[in-house]
Amino acid sequence: KGDPRLKAISEAIRVIPNFPKPGIMFQDITTLLLDHNAFKHTIDIFVDRYRDMDISVVAGVEARGFMFGPSIALAIGAKFVPLRKPRKLPGEVISESYVLEYGTDSLEMHVGAVRPGDRALIIDDLVATGGTLFAAINLLERSGAEVTECACVIGLPIVKERFRSNGKRLYFLVEPR
Ligand code: AMP
Repeated sequence: KGDPRLKAISEAIRVIPNFPKPGIMFQDITTLLLDHNAFKHTIDIFVDRYRDMDISVVAGVEARGFMFGPSIALAIGAKFVPLRKPRKLPGEVISESYVLEYGTDSLEMHVGAVRPGDRALIIDDLVATGGTLFAAINLLERSGAEVTECACVIGLPIVKERFRSNGKRLYFLVEPR
């Protein structure tokens, strides 16, 4: 709060109404990636927050978690693990399903990518209900990792409360526009 970089980040995110369906205000972070200063501010803020938290693994949620996670992992000296949609990973996987508005989806992670004792940061571009991130938390915890925090570029304070009441931590930079 009060950090002028957050205003630049918020203004670099494009909002596209009614995508992918009526009523959704799509928060498009591809325009943030086009703005070198705003993109760098985003990575810098995450790196400053996590560099001294002894994080050993950054887990990114497909697809937009892949756009932020590796830069953070490299800067803080952690490994990067992709959490992917079903049937994308070639090796043995563990899988975690979660409920969507219509139907279910799941995330998969390679067996052996995360080990007991790993300290994890989970990253995605945006948290809406938190369903995706809670599935990601379960994948990491089933592998014996301790999930230090979930981080997003965009989130809502009310969702932070939902995490807190489940004993989890959520961090985000800006609210939806
Ligand atoms: P949820 O599981 O409900 O927290 O939804 C979060 C996932 O859906 C993230 O991977 C987001 O990228 C995507 N998502 C949900 N709502 C939006 C939105 N309004 N704009 C962009 N992405 C969204």
